Amino acid sequence: MYNLSDTAIIKDILGRHGFSFSKSLGQNFLVNPSVCPKMAELAGLDENTGVLEIGPGIGVLTSELAKRAKKAVAVELDSRLLPVLGETLSDFDNVEIINADVMKIDLSSLIKEKFGDMRVCVCANLPYYITSPVIMLLLESRLPIDSITVMVQKEAAQRLTARVGSRESGAVTVAVDYYSEAVKLFDVSRGSFLPPPNVDSAVIQLKVRETPPVSVSDEKLFFAMVKAAFAQRRKTAVNSVSSGLGISKQTVAAALQKSGLSVNARAESLSMQELAALCENIKTETENQ
Ligand code: SAM
Repeated sequence: MYNLSDTAIIKDILGRHGFSFSKSLGQNFLVNPSVCPKMAELAGLDENTGVLEIGPGIGVLTSELAKRAKKAVAVELDSRLLPVLGETLSDFDNVEIINADVMKIDLSSLIKEKFGDMRVCVCANLPYYITSPVIMLLLESRLPIDSITVMVQKEAAQRLTARVGSRESGAVTVAVDYYSEAVKLFDVSRGSFLPPPNVDSAVIQLKVRETPPVSVSDEKLFFAMVKAAFAQRRKTAVNSVSSGLGISKQTVAAALQKSGLSVNARAESLSMQELAALCENIKTETENQ
């Protein structure tokens, strides 16, 4: 079995396959030997669980996942890595690599086909250029997954795991909290990667909720309102929601008042319950017009 945390071994394998790192595909491979075992250990795996990985790279995390799960399926976009993975993961008979773009593949069918009725978790060191889109895709598709344990940029980790209603929160915080319970697990320094990126990272875990923490009658309107509310952070919710949704300031102000909120409130000060109430009242206010 290869030691895929040993830089000399990695360079040898990659050199033999004529591989060069692609910055645009977010190819920073983990070389700190303690990180992948720790991530895999915290990912909630056991011998009855299937694990979906996004972007296996040379397979350093994949092998740790395969050791702990019943089956590991890894989606890798870069076809140059397929022969590399064929070599580095040759000791495992429970790993399957799918050469595809995670943003384009039908994940629902993939999970059904590859895992059947197994419990499924996601674990990955995500390509940073699509961190939030991948996380939102996994959550919004309401896939049958238990949890998502992923490495992301430290700043993204702060935003994704912030408390709704705190200064660090944003539209993505609200969306993540709607679908899951998010926690930060541990920090990872930039020196843990080859080549090292310009930023530090952190591993976060999203435990997928069975039901959202608030009930909203129109999810599409709720997320459109949240996006509008946070789009212009310095403005009050009245101004940002009215310009984002194309409704009058009076309507938004009336909805805020009906929700028991100040007309000067900013999005970042509103809790999940308050955002949900505001959405319901915007809906009734606009329907009554
Ligand atoms: N898991 C490996 C590790 O920890 O060393 C590699 C992680 S690296 C940060 C991200 C990986 O995602 C790369 O292997 C890259 O080729 C792959 N990738 C980038 N965009 C992708 C996409 N749209 N779909 C699937 N994989 C992608």
